[in-house]
Amino acid sequence: MNTELLSPTSEALARAGELLRAGEVVAFPTETVYGLGANALDAAAVEKIFAAKGRPGDNPLIVHIAEANDLAPLIACEPSARARALMDAFWPGPLTLIFPKSAAVPSRVTAGLDTVAVRMPEHPVAQALIRTSGVPIAAPSANRSGRPSPTTAADVLEDMAGRVPLILDGGPCRVGVESTVVDLKGDTPRVLRPGGVTRAQIEAVASACEVDHAVLHPLGDGEKPRSPGMKYKHYAPRGEVTVFRGKKAVENIIRRYDAAQNALILALEGNLPRYGSRRCLSLGPDAQSMAANLFHSLREADRMGAQTILCESVESVGVGLAVMNRLLRAAAFRVVDCED
Ligand code: AMP
Ligand code: MG
Repeated sequence: MNTELLSPTSEALARAGELLRAGEVVAFPTETVYGLGANALDAAAVEKIFAAKGRPGDNPLIVHIAEANDLAPLIACEPSARARALMDAFWPGPLTLIFPKSAAVPSRVTAGLDTVAVRMPEHPVAQALIRTSGVPIAAPSANRSGRPSPTTAADVLEDMAGRVPLILDGGPCRVGVESTVVDLKGDTPRVLRPGGVTRAQIEAVASACEVDHAVLHPLGDGEKPRSPGMKYKHYAPRGEVTVFRGKKAVENIIRRYDAAQNALILALEGNLPRYGSRRCLSLGPDAQSMAANLFHSLREADRMGAQTILCESVESVGVGLAVMNRLLRAAAFRVVDCED
């Protein structure tokens, strides 16, 4: 299959809409990461997403809508007052909510679950694509399963060339990590996957918010994940990633750890001078920039052929929680705790 890479002109969007209506798959930018979309109401089209990604069939997809009216056909009952408050506060934006699903949503989308995850992206190209196609779009991240999520069209092309007919190029993604996934089933909203909307932001609207234990910890033997995606190896480059955590000057420990000086170090901007002439990539000045740069840096590490990747941490608060959730998985929970 030939893969076209197009700027999101009105002609390109019209072509993408036609492809989606015809049951094909299109990669497109959102504010979080690039998505691989298909008509969410067409099980055969959705099947092509799983094939292109090599995604395990029991990992459900998020359905993307453009406006509030698009929600009702996807869900089994009226959203609760709390769900409405969260939608009013954060849609469009990087928040995914889980609802009981309607019969219109194929079980292929939800991997057999009786719930459906829904999000309204704010990116103008994602918005335009959903409106032009006239259908809700099921879309996971546009990477081959297990690889770092793509935050530029070139990252998508690296994984999807020959596997999808069209990639819309909307430039780099603003947030850089995927949406916050929130389960509203219990008494308190529960974050299953942290993302661009923070726990504190949710608390400000819903008065309380829990974060699932699996967000920062590996699942125990036989432990059942609340979200199927929690159990898979994720976001990993080919090199071996180790995370260095702690408040102490981690640079000293990383420098000692890398005695042979052949590792690639991913560091916050301000720490770079402390590594002297060692091979480093900057993650930017703070947690926000780290979120925006992390996946791209992990892919860059692969392009550089790095076998050993040593990465600094941020505090697990605010968007830092999403950064650490992705980083720990990319490192398969290989962590060096640098004591204070
Ligand atoms: P991705 O497609 O890579 O953005 O990942 C989607 C995430 O949402 C995965 O972690 C899924 O397990 C999770 N997810 C999607 N639908 C549901 C659902 N109905 N219940 C719980 N988690 C879900
Ligand atoms: Mg993904």
